[in-house]
Amino acid sequence: MNATKKVVLRFPSDIADRPLVCELALQFGLRFNILRASISPHREGIMVMEVIGKEKEEIEAGLQYLRQEGIGVESLSQDIRMVEARCVHCGACVGVCPTEALFMEKPSYLVRYDESKCIACEMCILACPTHAMEAVI
Ligand code: SF4
Ligand code: SF4
Repeated sequence: MNATKKVVLRFPSDIADRPLVCELALQFGLRFNILRASISPHREGIMVMEVIGKEKEEIEAGLQYLRQEGIGVESLSQDIRMVEARCVHCGACVGVCPTEALFMEKPSYLVRYDESKCIACEMCILACPTHAMEAVI
């Protein structure tokens, strides 16, 4: 049976164009499914993917390689939810959300959350002044 792990990768802007993820297959014999990606020029890139290998240790070795190359690697183990009663629709989260999961609805100018686009990067949790965005453990 295969081992799998879902991770969030954060690429600093200076290495976002290097094909480091391909090395997971070439060097470590891993397979991966990219679930979501948001990579813009001159900005940090974020990729959510499922890594598949024969053993958990193989996956960890591959992820350790990515860390050594400067990529941030975090486990994706939680969902993000919006507590609407706490939201004051200030828009602070909209600007930091890399996938447009948070957006301003027009013409109402109310902030809405599309959970299907969320990659659980937690940027909105840091940005929200009223703690309306939270991780569900
Ligand atoms: S965690 Fe927040 S900022 Fe990150 S993708 Fe999801 S809604 Fe957007
Ligand atoms: S930052 Fe918080 S309060 Fe402001 S719009 Fe986003 S969820 Fe609502």
